[in-house]
Amino acid sequence: MRKINNERLLKLLDDFAQFGKTENNGVTRLALSNEDKLARDYFIQLSRQADFSVKVDPIGNIFVRREGKYPKLSPILVGSHGDSQPLGGRYDGIYGVLAGLEALLSLNDYQIETERPIDLVMWTNEEGSRFSPAMMGSAVFTGKLSIEEAFRKQDKNGITVESELERIGYLGKDDFLNYRPYAALEIHIEQGPILERNHTDIGVVSGALGQNWYQIQLDGLASHAGTTPMNMRKDAGIGMAEAMMEFNKLGMKEIKHQGRVTIGSIQLTPNSPNVIPGRANFTLEIRHPDQQSLNRLDKEIYKIVNNISNKYQLDAQIKQVVNLPPLVFNSDLLRIIRQIADKLGYSREDIVSGAGHDSCHLNNEMPTAMIFIPCIDGLSHNEQENITDEWCEKGGNILFNMLLKLAS
Ligand SMILES: [Zn+2]
Repeated sequence: MRKINNERLLKLLDDFAQFGKTENNGVTRLALSNEDKLARDYFIQLSRQADFSVKVDPIGNIFVRREGKYPKLSPILVGSHGDSQPLGGRYDGIYGVLAGLEALLSLNDYQIETERPIDLVMWTNEEGSRFSPAMMGSAVFTGKLSIEEAFRKQDKNGITVESELERIGYLGKDDFLNYRPYAALEIHIEQGPILERNHTDIGVVSGALGQNWYQIQLDGLASHAGTTPMNMRKDAGIGMAEAMMEFNKLGMKEIKHQGRVTIGSIQLTPNSPNVIPGRANFTLEIRHPDQQSLNRLDKEIYKIVNNISNKYQLDAQIKQVVNLPPLVFNSDLLRIIRQIADKLGYSREDIVSGAGHDSCHLNNEMPTAMIFIPCIDGLSHNEQENITDEWCEKGGNILFNMLLKLAS
């Protein structure tokens, strides 16, 4: 199997980490900021130097093309995002863009002419920390968000996406309406601790977790903390506490199956030290790779809340506010990733993404797959985010050989 030039990839990662570099060696490169512009400009400069053509669509997604022998064949799309979180890391997103660039440069070095064109994309505003929603560039690209609506989105200073695109020179004119890639690939750091803990080189991302979110309200009776005996209370706070413990037990039973249960926000009313809580409001989110399990957990949740409501004489209301089905990436592409990892002698395991990625939008429109490499201590969205040179190289080699295989 052929290999990439890892020295060059490491140098690219280092060079791009200068755009928005922070004191603690992290990166603040918010979408459509001056730092984002610098990274974009340099990405285009390097691509043109290598004789690739460059297009920019109206939401500022940059498409770099290495032409194939048959320009009319549908291309392979590869890439990730160029923006970062505030005080974010040097690898989240940009690793996928630069591993793609390194793969194209290696194709040049080997003087390989692929049959299909390869398009390397740098998506606009994946993080969503300056402009909501996250994954904006890929949402517009796949028609999930209209360009008009995206243009109107504002940051906290009231500056719109459209005016910032215009200001930094990335309000593109290139049309991607009839663009249909043959397959799409994204490589990304895991942003979690699993691959490193298992000493696994490569995560074959089988899909992304489905999500159900709920808002739960328990109503009891607010009364005097000093005058109401313990056995004569309707304490909504105690009901909530017991529900939290029961939900956590439910989540612990799903460890093996990658299920996750989280109570992230709680509120007691009237929230006073000497009043028995009359009302408790809290959120519950469950995530699972499997729809049947999500349905089963959903039933369990209603049962738990019902039992607690009877036990403590509370009125209970459950409102489901988010319902996202689990997502499964293309099985043929996943099989090829596994084969290539085996041929290269890299350890691999299937892994489910707990986070959203641009590829999640692409998956409905075209055969799509993702590859993860480990990151140290699972840290991400953090200035300390880091990878080893070896993980960097192995990820790059997998991506390069995937492109070779798919484009030939
Ligand atoms: Zn990312």
